[in-house]
Amino acid sequence: MAGSGKTTFVQRLNAHLHTKKSPPYVINLDPAVHEVPFPANIDIRDTVNYKEVMKQYGLGPNGGIVTSLNLFATRFDQVMKFIEKKQYNHHGFTPEASSFPCVVVYVMDTSRSVNPVTFMSNMLYACSILYKTKLPFIVIMNKTDIIDHSFAVEWMQDFEVFQDALNQETSYVSNLTRSMSLVLDEFYTNLRVVGVSAVTGSGLDEFFVQVAEAAKEYETDYRPEYERLH
Ligand code: GDP
Ligand code: MG
Repeated sequence: MAGSGKTTFVQRLNAHLHTKKSPPYVINLDPAVHEVPFPANIDIRDTVNYKEVMKQYGLGPNGGIVTSLNLFATRFDQVMKFIEKKQYNHHGFTPEASSFPCVVVYVMDTSRSVNPVTFMSNMLYACSILYKTKLPFIVIMNKTDIIDHSFAVEWMQDFEVFQDALNQETSYVSNLTRSMSLVLDEFYTNLRVVGVSAVTGSGLDEFFVQVAEAAKEYETDYRPEYERLH
């Protein structure tokens, strides 16, 4: 969601990896961003002019973004070639294009999820992205410098605690949320959650542990399905 800290988090990741002498290869896929506060090796804005796309196709801002992404997607094989070349220069081997493990990281604003209904709506959004992408999934609970994410973890682990928090309010929405939380229980059990602060950098080491595990999960559980479909 807007303002959850995606840009700040990538900026922090970038700085962290440079410190560890393992500089990342960064791709900006936001065609409408004004400034990217970190160096991007590949930038969609070098290929697609979002404003021109809006004009040419008679689209609003959202349609312009989606169409720009679709135009860029038609050339993504070239992007893969660049990444392969980078791998080769670094490690001396060229992997198959589809052999890069792929993992989704969902960034949420913990400080704006203290209301149980808001928390639930954020989790539903994460859930829908998981089912849409069908990829290993990590939820980043960001801004832990403002509030610790333990309350949210407790809500996910203990249904009763979440119900108690909900009981503070009675409305149509809270009743719906009660039912939805039962549905989400299954989603929670398979979820990787890491509390981080994109500002202070806390939680990053745990994040990289989770990324490594999610990449392993991609190989064992997701790649066979991916190769069956493509
Ligand atoms: P994006 O829209 O998801 O890309 O969000 P941004 O990265 O632009 O961040 C939105 C706002 O949240 C900015 O004012 C950031 O400084 C702030 N922010 C991002 N991460 C953190 C964090 O970990 N802690 C705090 N306190 N603020 C953060
Ligand atoms: Mg941003």
